[in-house]
Amino acid sequence: MYDVVISGAGPAGSKCAEILSKNGFKVALIEKDVNWRKPCGGAVNSRIFKYYPQLRKFDFHRINKINIYSADFYKFGYRWKEAIDYSINVDRLEFDNLLRNIAIDAGAELFDKNMSYDFIIKDKQRIGVKTKSPSGIQEYKGKIIVIADGMSSKLAIKSGLKKKWKREEIMVAKSAIMEGVNNIDKETISLFFKSFRGYGWLFPLEENKFNIGVGTIGEDNLKYNLNHIFNEFLNDSKIKNFIPENNYKKIWMGACPIPGLGVLDKSLYGDNMMLIGDAAGFVNPISGEGICPSIASGKAAAETGINALENENISQQSLRNYKFHPTIRKIARSYKLTRSLLDFCFENQGQNFSKMCKIAEKDSVFREKVVNMFLFSKAPPKDFIMRLKSEN
Ligand SMILES: Cc1cc2nc3c(=O)[nH]c(=O)nc-3n(C[C@H](O)[C@H](O)[C@H](O)COP(=O)(O)OP(=O)(O)OC[C@H]3O[C@@H](n4cnc5c(N)ncnc54)[C@H](O)[C@@H]3O)c2cc1C
Repeated sequence: MYDVVISGAGPAGSKCAEILSKNGFKVALIEKDVNWRKPCGGAVNSRIFKYYPQLRKFDFHRINKINIYSADFYKFGYRWKEAIDYSINVDRLEFDNLLRNIAIDAGAELFDKNMSYDFIIKDKQRIGVKTKSPSGIQEYKGKIIVIADGMSSKLAIKSGLKKKWKREEIMVAKSAIMEGVNNIDKETISLFFKSFRGYGWLFPLEENKFNIGVGTIGEDNLKYNLNHIFNEFLNDSKIKNFIPENNYKKIWMGACPIPGLGVLDKSLYGDNMMLIGDAAGFVNPISGEGICPSIASGKAAAETGINALENENISQQSLRNYKFHPTIRKIARSYKLTRSLLDFCFENQGQNFSKMCKIAEKDSVFREKVVNMFLFSKAPPKDFIMRLKSEN
């Protein structure tokens, strides 16, 4: 019997497992496939070093600048070299395995090639997780179950805590890692907002590699074909300035949904259960940034779980502290505000976005607010929209 069974060893599950194990609890970390590369831009902001100081010694690709383009290709840039810590761009296959290994070193038991599909039920209580593995059905019993298996989590639905995502509640995105001679500035990530609800990105990686992707948001998921807009982006004449060659080597390509509603604060906990990471909506609704917030949710859930186990109270009432954890409250509040801004930004075929870029270009205080929203998921203050509305 484990103290905690965690389904999903992505960033959220691995952080949760690491903290619980470090505190002496017995943890089963269940993963469907450690060789799966999560479709992702791989941009990780400098907050990562707060959660994983040991990552500084790895030679990740460093980022010190962001360029944001509106649909009419108005650009503003922000360089933070020396002002704040560097961010990194990572290959998720390597990065996720690093975080998993940190959890294993802390004492968590990783069960790879295990696909969770249901709960073990006894006396109407969920007492563990059932998985399909190459050697057949496995059962992992635990006092607390943490659901960290991402957007397509079956357990999250079976738990009754949340319903299936609707198309208009998500973003869908496709990304690729490519290699070849390019003109992408090695220290700069670039986001390209569209006239519809969506955006593309170009993120540099080491040597001649780069991560390129596009996504659509909400109701525009139904109007636009992802493969089509990906190819269109790749061949856009303005994007061609960055990637002029015709035959880039495709190292990897994948597509995946991203939560688009912000934190699902009504679905975070139940009796002996918590939802973390993408499964619970920990993704910035405007930028799609979800790695650090998911890790933050894993840490908050672990701290709540430790308290609950020490007090021998794993009831819904006790795990409620997860929802009211200061970190979770801060992220949830920030995403609510950011989400309300999303509709406004994409109004009039992205004209408000264009306005935002223009003001940010000339006003350094406003620029900081925009950058904080995109890079650090800090919600803009109330006067932000007023300023946008008042500007001609
Ligand atoms: C195209 C795209 C681009 C993105 N770009 C960025 C970016 O640049 N920066 C950023 O910060 N965020 C980005 N995100 C968001 C980010 O990828 C997620 O928010 C983050 O990975 C969430 O971490 P997680 O641990 O909650 O879930 P995941 O990373 O999805 O991890 C879930 C884990 O559970 C495993 N799993 C799934 N189902 C099961 C099962 N049934 N049984 C057992 N294991 C299972 C998976 O294999 C995986 O290891 C992007 C997302 C997409 C789709």
